[in-house]
Amino acid sequence: MDIKKKILIVEDEKNIAMVLAYNIKKEGYDCDIAGDGETGLTMAITGSYDLILLDIMLPKMNGFEVCEKIRYKSQVPIIFVTAREEEKDKILGLETGADDYVTKPFSFRELLSRIRANIRRSSGEVVRTEAARQNTSDITIGELVIDTEHYSVTKNGEPIELSKKDYDLIALLAENVGKAFTREDLLEKVWGYDDYYGDIRTVDVAMNRLRKKIEKDPAKPEYLMTKRGVGYYLCDR
Ligand code: CA
Repeated sequence: MDIKKKILIVEDEKNIAMVLAYNIKKEGYDCDIAGDGETGLTMAITGSYDLILLDIMLPKMNGFEVCEKIRYKSQVPIIFVTAREEEKDKILGLETGADDYVTKPFSFRELLSRIRANIRRSSGEVVRTEAARQNTSDITIGELVIDTEHYSVTKNGEPIELSKKDYDLIALLAENVGKAFTREDLLEKVWGYDDYYGDIRTVDVAMNRLRKKIEKDPAKPEYLMTKRGVGYYLCDR
């Protein structure tokens, strides 16, 4: 039997929450609603959800805080639902660990496409990377070792804490070392967006996050390189 995927909506505006829930259920998902940040956090941690839609302006605890706290416990995909441009900029600047965001007003079709892609990626319905398929275990690049069997990365033998998406991103670049990928390419391959709904700045945010974890000086990367006018690549050192 097919188990329904379950989505948590954290949204204090009842009308928006109800309409979202109605549409999401119509698409065959289960869903719950939390009306404030604290309740959202508790439900997110104690319940088993496949994805969380998280508003930012919330009573009791704002969405950024909720997201950070969820991330201590769980790698569940989180999509921010933002009301304003300025919030969008904040998300891009902040590294709260959300996987994506949509800006209100959004089309449900757009949101649904994001939901699907994020659930697909996180539940492991992912086309495994080439190295994993061939069962070759480690990729070594300079001081980095990417263990494609255990989905982990070490630098000088020290483990680097990565979300699944960050791991997927670095694994893809590592398997194609020296090859530059456009942001659109990366959105498609790592985020699973096969249409134009993705915002390419999502890739920049993830790349900045990765650089902070991997590079000695994130401003002068030695591994995760920008190829001007193209995108990103991993440098073979
Ligand atoms: Ca709100």
